[in-house]
Amino acid sequence: MSVYDKYEPVIGLECHIQLLTKTKMYSNDIAEYGGLPNSHVSVVTLGHPGTLPVVNERAIEFAVKLGIAVNSDIREENQFARKNYFYADLPKGYQITQDKTPICTGGYVSYKLDGVEKKVNLTRIHMEEDAGKSLHDIDPFETLIDLNRAGTPLLEIVSEPEIKSGEEAYAYMTEVRKLVRYLGICDGNMEEGSLRCDANISVMKKGSKTFGKKVEVKNMNSFRNVQRAIDFEIKRQIDLLEEGGEISGETRSFDAVNDLTFSLRSKENANDYRYFPEPDLQPVYITQEYINKIKAVLPTLPAELFKTYTEKYKLSEYDALQIIESKEVAMYFNELVKHTSNYKGGANWIIGPIRSYLNERALNFSEFTLSPEKIAEIIQLIDSGKVSNSVASQTIFPALIENPSATAEEIAKQKDLIQNSDSNELQGLIDTALSKFPEKIAEYKNGKVGLLGMFVGEVMKLSKGKADPKLLNQLVKETLEK
Ligand code: ADP
Ligand code: MG
Repeated sequence: MSVYDKYEPVIGLECHIQLLTKTKMYSNDIAEYGGLPNSHVSVVTLGHPGTLPVVNERAIEFAVKLGIAVNSDIREENQFARKNYFYADLPKGYQITQDKTPICTGGYVSYKLDGVEKKVNLTRIHMEEDAGKSLHDIDPFETLIDLNRAGTPLLEIVSEPEIKSGEEAYAYMTEVRKLVRYLGICDGNMEEGSLRCDANISVMKKGSKTFGKKVEVKNMNSFRNVQRAIDFEIKRQIDLLEEGGEISGETRSFDAVNDLTFSLRSKENANDYRYFPEPDLQPVYITQEYINKIKAVLPTLPAELFKTYTEKYKLSEYDALQIIESKEVAMYFNELVKHTSNYKGGANWIIGPIRSYLNERALNFSEFTLSPEKIAEIIQLIDSGKVSNSVASQTIFPALIENPSATAEEIAKQKDLIQNSDSNELQGLIDTALSKFPEKIAEYKNGKVGLLGMFVGEVMKLSKGKADPKLLNQLVKETLEK
């Protein structure tokens, strides 16, 4: 047993999602990513004297949507609080957040890892505004400040310390991203910073009931890096404890190039935020009636689709998961099954030829131009035995993308690809071909069954490659065994 097996990692994640609202959390400045630096900044965002914040109603709606989707309790009376700290990219000198009254408490996110259903309970989800951005890498001497992001709406999703590994953290974050994308409340784009996760990590002896001291790791710009940071940190903490050292409560940063974490600041000189109720905002009241209204228009969520796909359409769990991975793919599949009842075939086309086509061209699914009806036509052509799978995916599929106004059958005919599934006609070809090989037939009958392929090949040649291979195989075999 290695020393690492003597310990149990404990991980809790704090994920910030940036909401897809048009305007900011407490002002009507545009909340869009990018834009000329400091062009989305009014006096409200800057907190100038005499200005007053106003809560963005759409942000409340998004928070309630997420709360419903993860089965949280949604709070009736929501207060806002000021979190005070000084930083150059925080123009007001405080951030308006929620302290004692997060909009959502409890709930959970469940996901599958290696076929096993796992669940992470949530502590809370609260609303807050983002800070601006300090840019250290544009000017060689100065740090530049862009306040466009200051005041954009965020939800912070805080998990219970229940995650056990970097891999589980990765799967959890992937599920969170999937959910917020299905809900349409966040684009989940980590590169643009619209989804950010900080990890809290500690280790304790296996079986212990008392958690170890935790370390918080920040500044990771991809799920993989969160996973790597967690794995590094678990090992670092165990090594330190095994050497007789002590973990100090601190905030660390992840260095992706060197694959390690380093200390940013210790908890001893941590900020004291001096939270107090935001005097400029009234509490927001959320009624059951309002919650019900949102429930009624909530989009179909991945868990529900998974159930439909596996139970109604009889897809394997693997196929179902592949399709619900992204909302766009799932919506495409939902459209496709309106035109074909070969559900498995539909799934195969999406996971196989369509995905390969897009991957080879580095395209997103949204850039796929062929309609689900066309894919259904191809499936129909295969199922009726008119073309083989490989002809369909290698020739008809790309030809249809080039010429989507044609039908799949028209293309197959035009390119002379319709295979011969007429058994009378095939039987004629079989008899002609076999008549040339009386000795080989005798060998076959004496047990040299490997010759079957040769016979099939001969008939295929006579058919100019257009015999339905499955049917041909079967007919040749029957003829030989007569
Ligand atoms: P803080 O007061 O330092 O912000 P919180 O109690 O608010 O800490 O928890 C922040 C996050 O850290 C949560 O996701 C929580 O699950 C996680 N967490 C709390 N204690 C531990 C621990 N001992 N080990 C790992 N994660 C922890
Ligand atoms: Mg906290």
